[in-house]
Amino acid sequence: MYPEVRLHIAGNWRTTSESMPILNPATGAEIGRHPVATRQDLDEALAAAERGFKVWRAVSVVDRSKILRKAANLLRERADTIAPIMTLEQGKILGESRAEIMIGADVIDWFAEEGRRVYGRTIPSRSDTIVQISAREPVGPVACFTPWNFPINQAVRKLAAALCTGCSVILKGPEDTPASCGELVRVFLDAGVPGDVLSYVLGVPSDISEYLIPSPVIRKISFTGSTPVGKKLAALAGLHMKRATMELGGHAPAIIFNDADIDSAVSILMSNKIRCAGQVCVSPTRLLVQDSVFDEFAGRFSKAIGDVKVGNGMEPDTKMGPLVAARRISAMEEFVENAKENGAEVMTGGRRIGNQGFFYAPTVLANVPTSAKIMNEEPFGPLVAINRFSDEDEAVSEANRLPYGLAAYAYTRSLDRINRLSAGIETGMLSINHHGLALPEVPFGGIKDSGYGSEGGSEALEAYLNIKFLTLKM
Ligand code: NAD
Repeated sequence: MYPEVRLHIAGNWRTTSESMPILNPATGAEIGRHPVATRQDLDEALAAAERGFKVWRAVSVVDRSKILRKAANLLRERADTIAPIMTLEQGKILGESRAEIMIGADVIDWFAEEGRRVYGRTIPSRSDTIVQISAREPVGPVACFTPWNFPINQAVRKLAAALCTGCSVILKGPEDTPASCGELVRVFLDAGVPGDVLSYVLGVPSDISEYLIPSPVIRKISFTGSTPVGKKLAALAGLHMKRATMELGGHAPAIIFNDADIDSAVSILMSNKIRCAGQVCVSPTRLLVQDSVFDEFAGRFSKAIGDVKVGNGMEPDTKMGPLVAARRISAMEEFVENAKENGAEVMTGGRRIGNQGFFYAPTVLANVPTSAKIMNEEPFGPLVAINRFSDEDEAVSEANRLPYGLAAYAYTRSLDRINRLSAGIETGMLSINHHGLALPEVPFGGIKDSGYGSEGGSEALEAYLNIKFLTLKM
């Protein structure tokens, strides 16, 4: 069922002499290998991106839109084939894989339409013989770097936005989960995107980014991944004067006030915590609960998450799959040990499950001091810290304490408070009384160390466009 993984360069799918293993995180077994791109492959991809940009920008916006709509339909048609591939290599449950593919198709449809609305402006001039126009044009060949947690969704936001505006793309996909991302690339090519316009490469991530970013062919980069790597790539982009979008780590606070609907808060936060085994940049990680509802909330949340059935994502009754790789188990163990040493109480979980595959129990740590590692670094796994607060100022100040600023959540019935939180929480996205992030039509992105730029909504197009000012005398 697992396909052969290939690179796509200059219109051809190819392998290389060097390859690396791909593991099924539910078993730890090797399920395939991915090719490692050589310098020669990257040079060919760069040359293709340069040629492809000239071709693609000249295709009318209406025709580009039609090709993208076709890609969206193909992705939907292939959902049942691609979903098991994603579960095999990523570990997430089959239902999540399928949902990711379907929303990916919606993302393509949305950009197919929005790309037709890249308008310019006519600026009133100081003379009736002069016309002034602010026009927008595609930025040029783009290098995209996407991670393994959402093999399709992290890539589709970049590809659809770049392609709808007329850019060519070299995508460095996720080495842990390369096949489902490769199937996304295939969908665009099968729909009619010319071969030179979209290349797909895999290999040693730093070798590829350090070669592509400085290349004069590349005009923009877009990266999704950790804050430390993002800072390195942003620095390299700055050195070579390349535009950049950075979608980096988060450490989302969820503030539960004593007037909240506790049933709803427990259920929404729990299901969002176990999604993709917590390996989500907007996953709620610091639950801040007001004193008078702390015991009730912490008890019910721990019970609900402790009852979650963890197992192979291919099995229908599984609610949470494994972590993507063995290195993430070690990372969870380090967070939990460190929290315990700092005096935290383990309310549920706190251990690896079995020795086969990379399963870790959903874990609730309570009363965690801010000195603990988990209160400062993104856990990126099925761990939450639950702490109490007494007043709103204290909660907001804890929410804003970290350099991250991606997502934040709050549960309260007070409109006055919602008003204050909307202004007071330093975050790129704030979702109150529900979880409403990451739809194709709404902005998606962070501030502070969580990065810059938006990967959703009309805002996402700006990243792929240059402004050109034209003035002419009649
Ligand atoms: P990692 O930082 O080694 O890798 C994360 C992703 O970045 C991978 O897809 C990898 O291929 C890519 N990457 C790493 N170094 C790169 C480089 N020099 N150039 C280009 N791409 C590079 O970490 P990991 O162990 O795979 O994952 C753990 C951490 O990664 C988490 O703590 C989390 O912060 C981050 N992460 C974030 C997201 C997200 O959605 N923002 C997704 C996956 C991982």
